[in-house]
Amino acid sequence: MTLDNARILVVGAGLMGAGIAQVAAQAGHDVLLFDTRTGAAEAAKAKLAQTLHGLATKGKLTAEAAQATLARITPVDALAPVDLVIEAIVENLDIKRALFADLEAVLPAEAVIATNTSSISVTALARDMKKPERLVGMHFFNPVPLMKLVEVVSGLGTAPEVAQAIHDLAGRWGKTAVHTRSTPGFIVNRIARPYYAEALMLLQEHAATPEVIDACLRAAGFRMGPCELMDLIGHDTNFAVTNSVFAANFFDRRFTPSLVQQELVDAGYLGRKSGRGFYSYP
Ligand code: NAD
Repeated sequence: MTLDNARILVVGAGLMGAGIAQVAAQAGHDVLLFDTRTGAAEAAKAKLAQTLHGLATKGKLTAEAAQATLARITPVDALAPVDLVIEAIVENLDIKRALFADLEAVLPAEAVIATNTSSISVTALARDMKKPERLVGMHFFNPVPLMKLVEVVSGLGTAPEVAQAIHDLAGRWGKTAVHTRSTPGFIVNRIARPYYAEALMLLQEHAATPEVIDACLRAAGFRMGPCELMDLIGHDTNFAVTNSVFAANFFDRRFTPSLVQQELVDAGYLGRKSGRGFYSYP
């Protein structure tokens, strides 16, 4: 199986969906972009126009390539039959399952569905699907155009040829792909949980400010400190991932979600995307 010439539908035009649409279109695919939030797909395309223009100005892309990339991205207001769907909607099992049911009603039999879930079991996501073998995790990292890694996540029912086709596709897009089984948090998010959790504990203990914690970790060699990284990811998403990993590990206290992060989510201080998290983004 090959997805080299796949026509792609990206569902969810938020942080990740927009980045995935850009990378796919830059690789030459026709990309449809869908979001249930009115105007979100159009807004994402308008933002991508600025990003691509910026890349062309810096000489990282020719003006023609930037224009051609943008022309390949089409916002749509309904799910459409394509060869490959990449799902990047809210991190919620039931909402993703409902989307997959809607997708299976419109997709051709051979179409693949790739989920960008950060932490939800691919096995569980596939449970009610007519063709669970077509669902696979394609876990990108933020920001998608810059981060090389893609975790290709196989659930119990994922067909090996589907996982391999997604692995090959990610490679063709210049990414470094790795295969992993669907286990709580997969590889990176599993290992990164304590990085965030201990920073949140330090904040709860009033040990230091986010500025100090981030400066320490950067000085210790990490590219980003945990607080600025959580602001980049989005606290709603990060909190949902922690809750999901906590539950999937049978509530092992090592993965206990933080009240500090709960408060940020409750306040709508979601990080960069809402203009305020640990830091302010004018
Ligand atoms: P986001 O909040 O920026 O965007 C999610 C988008 O999905 C929103 O625009 C929302 O309107 C839309 N949406 C919600 N329900 C929908 C539905 N039923 N149909 C269509 N659109 C719908 O979130 P994000 O950060 O882009 O995360 C999306 C997914 O990617 C999540 O599963 C998340 O865990 C995963 N992910 C996030 C990161 C990160 O750093 N933020 C990294 C890797 C993976």
